Amino acid sequence: MSRLLHLYDTMTREVLPLKAEDGKAVRFYCCGPTVYGPAHIGNFRTFVIQDVARRVMELNGTATLHVRNVTDVDDKTIRQSQAEGKTLKAFTDFWLKQFRDDCTALHLLPPHVEPGAVDHIPQQLGLVQRLLEKKNAYVAADGSVYFRVDSFPKYGRLSRLQEREITTNNAPKGPVDADEYQRESMADFALWKAHKPEDGANQWDSPWGPGRPGWHLECSCMSQEYLGESFDLHGGGEDLKFPHHENEIAQSEAATGKTLARHWFHSTHLLVEGRKMSKSDGNLYTLDDLKAKGFSPMEVRYVLMAGHYHKQLNFTMDSLSAARQALQTLFRLDEHLQKVLGTGPAPTYQELLQSLPPENAEDPFVSAWTALLKDLNTPEALGHIFVAAKDIEAKLRAQALAPGEAARIRQAFHRILQAFGLKLQAPVAEEAPPEVAALAQQRWEAKQAKDWKKADELRAALTEKGWTMQDRKEGYSLAKS
Ligand code: AMP
Ligand code: ZN
Repeated sequence: MSRLLHLYDTMTREVLPLKAEDGKAVRFYCCGPTVYGPAHIGNFRTFVIQDVARRVMELNGTATLHVRNVTDVDDKTIRQSQAEGKTLKAFTDFWLKQFRDDCTALHLLPPHVEPGAVDHIPQQLGLVQRLLEKKNAYVAADGSVYFRVDSFPKYGRLSRLQEREITTNNAPKGPVDADEYQRESMADFALWKAHKPEDGANQWDSPWGPGRPGWHLECSCMSQEYLGESFDLHGGGEDLKFPHHENEIAQSEAATGKTLARHWFHSTHLLVEGRKMSKSDGNLYTLDDLKAKGFSPMEVRYVLMAGHYHKQLNFTMDSLSAARQALQTLFRLDEHLQKVLGTGPAPTYQELLQSLPPENAEDPFVSAWTALLKDLNTPEALGHIFVAAKDIEAKLRAQALAPGEAARIRQAFHRILQAFGLKLQAPVAEEAPPEVAALAQQRWEAKQAKDWKKADELRAALTEKGWTMQDRKEGYSLAKS
């Protein structure tokens, strides 16, 4: 296989290589967050996977042009901003900042362009106009504009839904507003929504009266604005295949006559403790929730990228503890390599972009890199890394690793770490002074021996020294209290 990243394409159902059609950069569009509250770890699963795909391409010598939009006008942002008595802008700016802070903590590369829907109203009006002229859309009596699904025979190709399912799924859920009956067909979807009293001040002028854009429209406009009418790669969570991506394809392709995206990249949804995430089940976690439980963003990132993007990922607290152990193993390997080399900073992402990954079979990380190129197989790549880590540690112990070899290994190791977006941090317990670490270890042993009295006394001793010990299923962590 050629040394290009290959990904599964939802449209053709084949694993295909990703090339930059313009010979410069893979043009990559991702549907971004709706900024009406904190993003949850399900959202971040999708964004982390997209980030790993981008990193692998770049570190493999393929530049990217990455655009991820911000949904800042829709039913949810309008409803919630009004409930809090804030302007839409003040409200969405606040949640966008939180989102960006979480992205930084999770070590996500910022997209090259991060456009918001509200800043692109003229482009959206232009696309609606174009679709009306081509008779792919019609104006309803109230001034809303709908896309005529019947006018686009390819509708449903991505999700492979039958006509009956499209009509049923596109039909409004729950109580039906009178204006919904203004649609010619229940399969049709809104491009432009006429103003309703509950939208408050959130309205824009249009040739069809005041209103606001429908949700799907923004992605067609912003991808075209920054990537052109046709681009290389389009990503999102699997829930977006229908109706969102079908609608994007219909709007864009009906208007331009060109293929919107040459490759569709969907990641499966995340489960928590085996169940769908939901607020009412108490299993919907944000990054802050997990930080409050003592886990670091890197541990969260590790879990989110450790499962293959095609397979359902089951997020559990045990998987976070396992991530802690795995990161500590990687930290120690790096530390040992540095000891052989003498200390020196690890190569940065920018520095690694100046060279290509090694291909020679002698390099212990070649198989990990190959697994990544082959449909972004992150779990297989991790498996190779831990086998290699064991091997390298054995060589280090036997003093059978020359500094030159160690330097080469360290470079290849950091290329893989950067592809995963993992930053190695000293384990918390190691930062504690030795007498504190020792007390903690003694308490752990007392607990294992079910000597509760001694365990309690040792906890009190730790508290006196200003440290708190958090018990985990496999081990413990220490934090300053
Ligand atoms: P939203 O903010 O709801 O527009 O979603 C942003 C991104 O997160 C989209 O690509 C969704 O498909 C994705 N997403 C939402 N829930 C989950 C989940 N449980 N697991 C993985 N991705 C999700
Ligand atoms: Zn989108």
